[in-house]
Order: sequence, then structure tokens, then C-alpha cells
Amino acid sequence: MKYIGAHVSTSGGVENAPENAQKIGARAFALFTKNQRQWKSSPLSDNSIELFKQRCQSLNFSPQHILPHDSYLINLGHPENEALKKSREAFLDEMRRCQQLGLQMLNFHPGSHLKQISVEECLNRVAESINLTLDKTNGVTAVIENTAGQGSNIGYKFEHLAYIINRVEDKSRVGVCIDTCHTFAGGYDIATAEGFEKTFREFDETIGFKYLRAMHLNDSKKGVGSHIDRHESLGKGELGTTLFRLLMQDSRFDNIPLILETPNEDIWAKEISWLYSL
Ligand SMILES: [Zn+2]
Ligand SMILES: [Zn+2]
Repeated sequence: MKYIGAHVSTSGGVENAPENAQKIGARAFALFTKNQRQWKSSPLSDNSIELFKQRCQSLNFSPQHILPHDSYLINLGHPENEALKKSREAFLDEMRRCQQLGLQMLNFHPGSHLKQISVEECLNRVAESINLTLDKTNGVTAVIENTAGQGSNIGYKFEHLAYIINRVEDKSRVGVCIDTCHTFAGGYDIATAEGFEKTFREFDETIGFKYLRAMHLNDSKKGVGSHIDRHESLGKGELGTTLFRLLMQDSRFDNIPLILETPNEDIWAKEISWLYSL
């Protein structure tokens, strides 16, 4: 079974996310557990936590299909030690918030080398950041997202994600989220049936489907290999519709959250019902 949803608003508190998801016909959702553009946020209140759990239960969203996303400010591969420390502290706080909410995953972009260190050194820092965080938390899996490779972002090659996973000590608590726009912009031509087969065969050989914990479903405004991260509504960008039809008919993508991060929120309900219709 497919679990499709979108990255919904938590305006007024995290406890509002489940209803926002239900309104658009979602069976899964993503959310920020704090303001994603600030380093510090006040702790979650007991009331928010309780309401969030109650509403997830009554609206039938299980933790397996809820994908919190961390702050955009965090860079777990930061080349400078002070800044790296700040990122690691913020990431630990995000992990603890997920734990408090009874959630099982935290989705994040691996990091950026900022042209100051090599890709390999940056990947080593990310792996170390994950190890340090997993040591201090319980029950939450670190879900690394592939990127478009914009600027100095690492993580646009499957090999980058595999390299990090290899260095994570607790393999039971690391996974990946594959974003269709990032995959395409990162250089994998998944717009055609042949390209789709080839890319996911390569994914399986390099990383392995057992690590696939979530997907982000976005079309791409820019072409294959552009390394530019611009999401587009489904079927309206360079990816077209073939990919989404193939994904919906492929059981390798069952039972994980499939999350829209497309730009027009007003048509999320339509996009979700279109996907289910495939
Ligand atoms: Zn994404
Ligand atoms: Zn993106």
C-alpha cells in the first residue's frame, strides 16, 4: 500500500499537522517540529505533545508514515569546528523533539563542504555527527536525504549516501530519503522508463532498498544534471508523469511516506488523489 502526503504546516503548534494532512486526503505527512529558520525554539509543551499523539492516533497516522524534517540551518558536515558543534547541538535537539513526539525518523540534508574541505572529509564529519547523535538518543532513525548538489552540497551521488551509511555504527538507525527532483537535478535521468529502472538498480546496488525509509515526490523546474534545486508541481516540470506512474505501480515504494514538497499547496489534494489513481 502507498502512503502519500505532503509537508504540512504546523502553524499554531505541531499538534495542528495531523489535521492539515487529513484535510488534503493524505495517509502520511512531513513537518518541522520547530521554526526551521531559527537556531533556537522553545521546547515542545506537554500539551502539544499529548495533542499531537492523540490526533495522529485518531486520524490514523502511524509514526512509520510521519517524516519530520530538520532546520535548514544545520550543516552536519561543516568545515569549521565551532559551527559544526552548533549544528550538532541543534540536530540533537531536533532528534529529542522527534523522540518526545513518539516519532521514529528525522529527515535531513547531509551537509556542505563550503569549498573549505574535501567531499570525503565532509562526508566523514556527517557520519561522525550521526554517530554522536544516535549515541545520545533512542528509537529515532537518522534519514539522510539525497540532494541536487547545488553549491557545495554533498549527497547528490548515491555513493555519498553509501559512504556515510558505511561509517555509521548503528546501521539499524540510519536510512535514506530519495527526493525525485534532487535525484534528477543531481544527474540521474529518472524521467524515462529505462532511466527509472537503471537508476533504481544502481540505487539498490550502491545503497540498498532496505535503507529506503521515505521519498519526496517533486517534479523539477530544471533539467537533468543541472544541480539546481527547484521543485515543480507534479507533471508540470522536466520530469513529466512517467516517473510518478512507475513509482505508484512499484511495490518497492510501498509502506514508506511519499511526501510532496511541491510549490502550490492549493493543489496538494489534487496531486495526492492523482497519485492514488495511478
Ligand atoms: Zn526533499
Ligand atoms: Zn529540494
